[in-house]
Amino acid sequence: MFTTHPHSAPRRHLPWDDDKPHEECGVFGVFGAEDDEGRGGDAAALTALGLHALQHRGQEAAGIVSNDGEHFHSHRALGLVGDNFSSREVIARLKGTMGIGHNRYSTTGDTVLRNVQPLFADFEFGGLAIAHNGNLTNAYALRRQLVHRGCIFQSTSDSEVIIHLIAISLYSTVVDRLIDSLRQIEGAYSLVAMTQDALIGVRDPYGVRPLVLGRMGDAYIMTSETCALDIIGAEFVRDVEPGEIVVIDEMGLRSIKPFAKVPSRFCIFEYIYFARPDSTIEGANVYNVRKRIGAELARESGLDADVVVPVPDSGVPSAIGYAEQSGIPFELGIIRNHYVGRTFIEPTDSIRHLGVKLKHNANMGLLKGKRVVLVDDSIVRGTTSMKIVEMVRNAGASEVHMRISSPPTAHPCYYGIDTPEREKLLASHYATDAMARHIGADSLAFITHDGLYRAVGHQRRDPEFPQYCDACFTGEYPIRLADREDGPVQRQLSFLAEQE
Ligand code: AMP
Repeated sequence: MFTTHPHSAPRRHLPWDDDKPHEECGVFGVFGAEDDEGRGGDAAALTALGLHALQHRGQEAAGIVSNDGEHFHSHRALGLVGDNFSSREVIARLKGTMGIGHNRYSTTGDTVLRNVQPLFADFEFGGLAIAHNGNLTNAYALRRQLVHRGCIFQSTSDSEVIIHLIAISLYSTVVDRLIDSLRQIEGAYSLVAMTQDALIGVRDPYGVRPLVLGRMGDAYIMTSETCALDIIGAEFVRDVEPGEIVVIDEMGLRSIKPFAKVPSRFCIFEYIYFARPDSTIEGANVYNVRKRIGAELARESGLDADVVVPVPDSGVPSAIGYAEQSGIPFELGIIRNHYVGRTFIEPTDSIRHLGVKLKHNANMGLLKGKRVVLVDDSIVRGTTSMKIVEMVRNAGASEVHMRISSPPTAHPCYYGIDTPEREKLLASHYATDAMARHIGADSLAFITHDGLYRAVGHQRRDPEFPQYCDACFTGEYPIRLADREDGPVQRQLSFLAEQE
């Protein structure tokens, strides 16, 4: 039981009390994008192209903020990059040789537009725009303290706490204020930020999300993945290191490492599913890693079959690896319609079901009478696998065996990949045999943890110091989940108690 002051009636939902991370984002920043034709800089055009290459990292909204040395210009919109940033007028308005941009996957609803990044604020020292990929794990606690101190938040995004922490910092330079604020936040963050005269990139000490540095002539780029460098013909320089701050201005490039060093824990799910296969992350090409995972899977749980069929598109590289290793022919037994989004990014379970049918069709001519090995990257809720197995059986397959290029996903991600809560994860309820029955497959196998680590170039998963963040498979969260230490109800109660 608790009581509240009569004037502070209990509220079921605080505006930002959203229990689940929704950030699955891509970021891009460019410095020194001069143009020869007096357009005032090519930053926005390059950023739009970069965001287009990163569209797989977030499809619900996109934004660009540019800077022409005097003024900041911004455009943010719901929808795809191509739908909002392909007009000459929009790009012409975003003048400047510096720009940053962001792709976002977020919840639907009327609060969405105000959450679209880059976030921008005017400070004592001038303007600052910031774009964040990842998810902060103590944003709720910080926000409560900041609201208590009088900060007025404009969005429900976790990233906005960074803006307020910078605003109230007692340090004088932007970089010192940023460092001061980063020391207070916890969680996963790859950031690109832009001041009046500098582009800044930051990767959290564990390096959970990717961030790379590139060059194009005299211009510098910092972005989530190398595919965003390729699209504009920029050259890859190096990964921004975990815990590193890179500041680029007229003086050149400066690297600052203000945090105590911790063993890095890059997200292994980026390799399995999230990153684009043509990207190279931390020295490894994503496509090759996926093929190696498929080969490991064939070594670990191979069987006699007639065809290896990928669940397109994400299952394709590992199915190729599986087929090469097993000697079973690879065939496109399921055809994907490319004009629908990722099934996962659908608001309700019923629509998500429909999404699977909209998206895939079995190639009957090929599958009839065949023993099929289906390869997909993950089973989350099990919706996709169940539908696909049924579809392949209905197309006349005599046996359907499912092979998954990740270990069972039994735990939610709190570091920036959108996964459902634990109760909705099939692997949190069922062992593999029961999952096989649930999805209707004749057999089901997942890659082992060690098999996965071998595929990314290690002998095995080091149980004491795992080389990656694999919390979604193991439940071992490398970064404290401060906001989850009390449940949402506890958090509301303590907030109300503070108000009394
Ligand atoms: P489900 O139907 O819930 O089991 O989802 C599994 C499918 O969703 C797999 O085919 C994956 O390719 C895809 N998937 C897995 N994780 C994600 C994610 N975080 N965002 C979007 N799609 C995902």
